Amino acid sequence: MSDDCLFCRIVAGQIPSRQVWSDDQAVAFLDIGPWQRGHCLVVPRRHLVDGTSQADAWREVADGLTAVARLVRQRLGAAGVNFLSNAGAVAGQEVFHFHVHVIPRYEDNPGMSGLVRRDPTAAQDLDGLWAHLTALE
Ligand code: 5GP
Ligand code: ZN
Repeated sequence: MSDDCLFCRIVAGQIPSRQVWSDDQAVAFLDIGPWQRGHCLVVPRRHLVDGTSQADAWREVADGLTAVARLVRQRLGAAGVNFLSNAGAVAGQEVFHFHVHVIPRYEDNPGMSGLVRRDPTAAQDLDGLWAHLTALE
């Protein structure tokens, strides 16, 4: 736990997040600045800076990646997802606690060009979206 790390503080519950999944090694929550509807981050509970130095980092988030991908397919009707992890400021990393973006993709905005073209409506009603993702079946 690093007191000055945003994601350590989210994992510890010191900063609120809209959590959609967790296990003993990792946590997944809605990204506050989503590119597409239902954009989530999967982060290991322990502080690791990025995914370039330890294969363990990826093992710790692996179950979360598949669980969140399944969730957004089933609950939001995503037709696919992009898994993306930025490592290093030059790659666009802004939070230096390893995380993998799970970005749901929809039929009306396909392909890599659709990924970088943010959906301006994706950040609307995050609370309603969260309730939908976490409602018991
Ligand atoms: P990076 O650029 O480091 O790969 O991604 C960091 C991500 O964290 C961004 O997509 C950004 O929207 C998200 N983010 C930044 N601050 C917060 C926060 O306080 N809560 C949540 N849920 N996401 C955040
Ligand atoms: Zn951290």
